[in-house]
Amino acid sequence: MTRLTFLGTKGEIEEFTERHMYHSSLLVESGTFKIVVDYGKLRKYGLDELCPDAVLITHAHPDHYAWLYEDLAAEMPVYLTQESLECGKFRPGRAITIEPGVEFRLGPLQVLPYRVLHSTRCPAVGYKIGTEGKSFVYNPDLVDILDKDSILPGTDLYIGDGSSIKANLVRRHAGTVIGHARIATQLNWCRRSGVSRVIFTHLGKETISLEARFVEDHPEVVLAYDGLQVDM
Ligand SMILES: [Zn+2]
Ligand SMILES: [Zn+2]
Repeated sequence: MTRLTFLGTKGEIEEFTERHMYHSSLLVESGTFKIVVDYGKLRKYGLDELCPDAVLITHAHPDHYAWLYEDLAAEMPVYLTQESLECGKFRPGRAITIEPGVEFRLGPLQVLPYRVLHSTRCPAVGYKIGTEGKSFVYNPDLVDILDKDSILPGTDLYIGDGSSIKANLVRRHAGTVIGHARIATQLNWCRRSGVSRVIFTHLGKETISLEARFVEDHPEVVLAYDGLQVDM
């Protein structure tokens, strides 16, 4: 069994509630093997408390990547793209660079980083993580997945960007799109790809303010909160 714990569930916003105090971060445990995906500025636990076997970074925004501004000591390897590594003022002691589309193995986990559109200055990836015949995708910040049709079909759980329900947070910049896709847009991708289990993390201002109402209207969708645990 693989257990997912949402250590933090908010985006890079000032607003917070008791349910959303910390920046989006996910702990993945498979047996005794543990990884943390994203480790930003506002976090509940130190890496020395979590003791993951590895850390994976989606991109170098401050709510996802502590080393952007902090000289943080870490014993474990930190996997990230070369672009993310170059964005940081500091770098993890054991940085391991990865490339979108190039799969790798971490203990019992099969990990596929894939390109998502989100920022031109800090390009982002999502991760498809599989183990024991099940898989989930984690893309907390995105406007779009470049290769949706090869990433989403067959995925058991979609964990997406909860920045906005209806507000338009998509901008055009340097010939591409940046920002955050609406929850409704991502639900359409999942429907089309046959992914029925959906959780949103990285909640933004609009989502946090309309949370109770949204959950009532969409019982099929889970909005993650700090400390939520789900099993695969
Ligand atoms: Zn973010
Ligand atoms: Zn971001």
